[in-house]
Amino acid sequence: MAEEFRIVLFGPPGAGKGTQAQLLAEQLGIPHISSGDLFRHHLRAETPLGLRAADYMRQGLLVPDDLTIDIILERVMAINSEEGFMLDGFPRNRHQAEVLDDALERRSRALDKVVCIDVPEGELLRRLAGRFSCRECQAPHSIPQDASAEVADASPFPQCDHCGGELYQREDDRPEAIRKRIEVYQAETLPVLGYYRDRRILAEVPGTDSVEGVNQKVLTVLGR
Ligand code: AMP
Repeated sequence: MAEEFRIVLFGPPGAGKGTQAQLLAEQLGIPHISSGDLFRHHLRAETPLGLRAADYMRQGLLVPDDLTIDIILERVMAINSEEGFMLDGFPRNRHQAEVLDDALERRSRALDKVVCIDVPEGELLRRLAGRFSCRECQAPHSIPQDASAEVADASPFPQCDHCGGELYQREDDRPEAIRKRIEVYQAETLPVLGYYRDRRILAEVPGTDSVEGVNQKVLTVLGR
């Protein structure tokens, strides 16, 4: 039976949040809300929001709060109160964290846990450079760095292990944008950890283990 877990999965780009969030959402029977996936969906559909967010995303910058907060809160608030949720990629600055708390509080809800998956910078750079995503289901795939240049130019494209969709390298996983995204994480997103630490709902998990190993550690800090 699904349990009422309200969780934020936190961590730098390339820490494996997307992979873990997908897995955990299935295991816990709760919806997975990824702000990055939502923006990429709008980008592909060329909606007004997608077009306004595009430049920020390409450069590895945060999309401004006035474009971000409403679409995420709308999703979160649409979930009925017996259900939990797994937020991935939101909040990414202090203001987003405060607005999320206020909105949940108004519904007499609160976050249960913020789980931060931590990976050293050198490892993040290596992983992001070899990360390819599925155009259909968004599932990330790891392709060794020496092969990734070939894959980026390959035609036809290699296929997704899960749904057979076409794999591509996200524009913001290219080297120019990667460093910027890590810088933005350190300057704007990392301070949010202190906010949750003060609220005593933060758990930190090393993300250097295998996917299964990290998953086990996250389940343990969630009391599962
Ligand atoms: P992600 O897939 O989570 O790495 O997100 C991809 C990009 O979407 C980020 O680099 C940002 O440009 C944008 N984005 C995702 N979530 C947020 C957020 N909470 N606040 C601002 N921008 C975001």
